[in-house]
Amino acid sequence: AQDALANLKAQAHLNAFLHVDDDLTLAQARAADARIAAGSATALTGIPIAHKDNFVTQGWRTTAASRMLADYVSPFDATVVQKLGQAGAVSLGKLNCDEFGMGSYSENSAFGPVRNPWDTDAVPGGSSGGSAAAVAAGLAAATTATDTGGSVRQPSALCGVSGIKPTYGTVSRFGIIAYGSSLDQAGIIARSAGDLMEVLDTISGFDPRDATSLETCDGAPNAPGRIRADYAAAAQSFDAAGAKPLLGLRIGVPREFFDAGLDAEVAHAIETALQTLESLGAVRVDISLPLTRLSIPAYYVIAPAEASSNLSRYDGVRYGHRAAQYGDLESMTGRSRAEGFGVEVKRRIIVGTYVLSHGYYDAYYLQAQRVRRMIANDFRKALSESCDIILGPVAPHTAKRIGEDRDDPTAAWLSDIYTLGVSLAGLPAMSIPCGFSNAGKPLPIGMQLIGNYFNEGRLLAVADRFQ
Ligand code: GLN
Repeated sequence: AQDALANLKAQAHLNAFLHVDDDLTLAQARAADARIAAGSATALTGIPIAHKDNFVTQGWRTTAASRMLADYVSPFDATVVQKLGQAGAVSLGKLNCDEFGMGSYSENSAFGPVRNPWDTDAVPGGSSGGSAAAVAAGLAAATTATDTGGSVRQPSALCGVSGIKPTYGTVSRFGIIAYGSSLDQAGIIARSAGDLMEVLDTISGFDPRDATSLETCDGAPNAPGRIRADYAAAAQSFDAAGAKPLLGLRIGVPREFFDAGLDAEVAHAIETALQTLESLGAVRVDISLPLTRLSIPAYYVIAPAEASSNLSRYDGVRYGHRAAQYGDLESMTGRSRAEGFGVEVKRRIIVGTYVLSHGYYDAYYLQAQRVRRMIANDFRKALSESCDIILGPVAPHTAKRIGEDRDDPTAAWLSDIYTLGVSLAGLPAMSIPCGFSNAGKPLPIGMQLIGNYFNEGRLLAVADRFQ
């Protein structure tokens, strides 16, 4: 743990960590040592991890990268934090991200942008940029992250590491600072499918403190062991197939994921990956997800609508920042929010409030919910009738320069096109590295594997064969 702390300090220019506390980390490390000595260790005991700063933690500050929560310390741990602590994992601290998870480049942090370890002038992706950068730079073996519209998958792709977002409802949201509650799901970023499996299986499970937590997954209890068992069963059947481990696996390739907006280098890397999978016995199936384009407007109505509601709790009274100077009560709330929230967060609150307001609700919010349902149905149909998994790009391009889109806020929104549909449908998906760009400094390219509901174990086993 001492080495890990020294490492992350040597990489401070990445700005991946927001809060580090050597004493807290070393206390956890000593407890882990004692446990190993006593013979009661789990696979995660003593393993260095770190948490995205929107998971509340009792010891470390939790800011969600917002000035609004600059000094906030939670009186309790998020369920995910608690479960990893109970398994003996050692937390190195809290990771930078976009403010409240809103963004795609980790530039919307009140505490400065995160840098991509492959090229420090490039963004690491977002919103979980600190989580992906920390794993890519070798600072932590695994990190927690959240994915509302792609925030586990896209930074994983842009930093050349692996990430998984499980089925909505399988991991507790208790203690995760809410952004879009019907979309938010915890995920993990690590270096390999095996590591992802180990951590994801540990944090998954029903939690009565989260109202949308699932008690069962396709009849099986939602509990640790479920993903591990599915992973082991898939791995066993792949092993039994010998040289063609993925024999007969139908991989759906949605034609809408390979539109004109996709960078040629990314397209090439995905095509090469597909050929590798075919050489392992998989079969390519052309499919169509015709509403892919509409996932952007649907998501950017629903997510801001939920955000505007979730963020109304930051009123200068109950949590966080309060303006130093104000007149009446209304000006106190107004000024506190004006000072505490960043530009992108304010943009979302305005959009969200607008689409929920009387007279616009039916035209925007309800319509977006209908589109959401249709998008989910398209995925469900493809995964039940045509293919076993879906493969495509994660992002249209490799990492952009820091500041490149500063004057064009919708550029980031549009670049979420391949990840938003999965979130709207609540499906599990992962990102795994599949190549590098050629021009200039090599930047990683990731591919996305999307599974049917509760198929995390199988997805991870497929990824494992590819890696
Ligand atoms: N880029 C998307 C957004 O800004 C997704 C972010 C996320 O998944 N947290 O909302």
